[in-house]
Amino acid sequence: MTFTDKPSAIGLPNATPGEPSEKPLLLIVDDQPGNIQTLYELFKDECEVCMATNGPDALTFCQFRQPDLILLDVIMPEMGGYAVCQRLKSDLLTQNIPIIFVTAQNNPMEEAQGFEKGGVDFIAKPYHASVVKARVRTHLTLKRQSDLLRSLSLTDGLTGVANRRNFDATLQGEWRRCARAEHPLSLILIDVDFFKRYNDFYGHQAGDVCLQSIALALQSIFKRSHDLVARYGGEEFICILPDTPLEGAEQKARQLEKAVRDLCIPHEKSEVADVITISLGVATTNPVKGENPEDLIGCADNQLYLAKRSGRAQMRSLQIPRA
Ligand code: GH3
Ligand code: MG
Ligand code: MG
Repeated sequence: MTFTDKPSAIGLPNATPGEPSEKPLLLIVDDQPGNIQTLYELFKDECEVCMATNGPDALTFCQFRQPDLILLDVIMPEMGGYAVCQRLKSDLLTQNIPIIFVTAQNNPMEEAQGFEKGGVDFIAKPYHASVVKARVRTHLTLKRQSDLLRSLSLTDGLTGVANRRNFDATLQGEWRRCARAEHPLSLILIDVDFFKRYNDFYGHQAGDVCLQSIALALQSIFKRSHDLVARYGGEEFICILPDTPLEGAEQKARQLEKAVRDLCIPHEKSEVADVITISLGVATTNPVKGENPEDLIGCADNQLYLAKRSGRAQMRSLQIPRA
């Protein structure tokens, strides 16, 4: 057996730490290793199987990696399956993981309680292997479909970057996180220069392809997992840079401007260059809990307006002073 780098969460042989496989990740939680072994044998070929022998270890594991499905024993010493389920359902990071309870307690009241706690299914022991397999497969398929829908609902269809809904939700979350940590938060609002003329001259389809190239170029500049590039509107993009002071955001904005210019997309009708360019408005603040990020967006918008008025293809920036 190999061990994952997570405390007491044991990756059985087909789980290689650090190398996530294409297979769905199944976590089996049971205080009886024999029960785990039986389920492992059933799923080792079609899933990457990991295990935990108690509730706290299962919770710790899920903070590091989010399984596609959990088979969760109900009766365990220390922390029972229902309590584990409740904890997972109350955490944004883990709330979408489907949980199937596995238990020897075979009664309808027990089963109803499992569903109430947020479980998606209930398997009573002793079980028949083919029934367990069928149920697990069904829930893995549903999970794959809901993951896909969730990701589509957060992605801009044309450019593949985050959409406005994703931006709004992410900004709220990062605002709260930066307020707690007392870290600065920066926004970069971006608008393509003379894009109406581009569409009029090269055609709407060429305009769409241009927006796709710009989105890719913008995304390539960001390396931190907390940064987000989103399509804000027609030919406007917006970037969230958490934990980033003004100087850092200005540096990124310059890189973004250069990356788009370096695409060298011809724009015969632009008044500022013979290629596609962008204007950028940068704003930085120290978020305060309870206050609204709208002002920060407004400030970035004002800076963008100044960049446009000053001749386009440039960045303007402002640090919002502490109250
Ligand atoms: P400015 O430099 O002042 O920003 O001028 P502009 O022409 O870029 O600004 P304006 O707001 O007048 O025009 C934006 C244009 O962006 C209008 C529209 O034709 C184009 N646009 C918006 N969304 C899309 C899209 O999804 N695809 C394409 N091809 N064009 C779009
Ligand atoms: Mg615009
Ligand atoms: Mg524009």
